[in-house]
Amino acid sequence: MGDGSVRAVLSENLAAVRGRVGEACTRAGRDPGEVTLVVVTKTVEPEVIETLADLGVREVGENRVQALVHRAGRLGHRDLNWHMIGHLQRNKVRKVLPVASLIQSVESLRLARAIDRVAGELGRSAEVLLEVNISGEEAKFGLTPDGARDLVQQAPEWPHLRILGLMTMPPLVDDPETVRPIFVGLRDLRDSLAAEAPPEVRMQHLSMGMTQDYVQAVEEGATIVRVGTAIFGGLP
Ligand SMILES: *Cc1c(COP(=O)(O)O)cnc(C)c1O
Repeated sequence: MGDGSVRAVLSENLAAVRGRVGEACTRAGRDPGEVTLVVVTKTVEPEVIETLADLGVREVGENRVQALVHRAGRLGHRDLNWHMIGHLQRNKVRKVLPVASLIQSVESLRLARAIDRVAGELGRSAEVLLEVNISGEEAKFGLTPDGARDLVQQAPEWPHLRILGLMTMPPLVDDPETVRPIFVGLRDLRDSLAAEAPPEVRMQHLSMGMTQDYVQAVEEGATIVRVGTAIFGGLP
């Protein structure tokens, strides 16, 4: 099959996801303009990402450092913002910082400190989200809510780190309603941290919701949804 059908499938899937985001916003009395769709590209070919860019997608996410760095380099001529959404080791920060527009997966104090230091050396600042494990089970990574609170309080010590909000990755479930309380928990935590945060911290974003549960996440206040499978399903 030719590129035309790839483009048609992607275009249809994007419209379907945007449509469901729009409907969820209507139900929740929210403005769809508040919700950014980050397309999670993982295993798709770079040519497919080019087609996404042709279709107007600007925000793309990768959960592996190697894929992020490689693709951001290869597609550097395209107007794409790359989000780091997976586990990041401190010794990879130097590779990721130059290409990532937002690191969504800051899950330890030591990682925050490393990002601040490297960003300082590169003469820039780094925008990040704190990854929180709200449910306290199953998820391998993520700060506890108290850990996130500690990190926010220490933020003034890191002049090159700009904390913009929270991210969470709920367990995989059959019924997305099961994870709604996790989204409510992340929103409540964001609100309570926002009330006590030092002025350096802008507790603005909630990155939550993937293919299984982005509708519930938007209803509960997501400002960023990270969707892969729903965009690439049915590709020839
Ligand atoms: C893969 C991934 C997603 C997207 O998952 P889909 O189910 O394909 O939509 C979102 N967030 C993270 C952190 C991921 O690793």
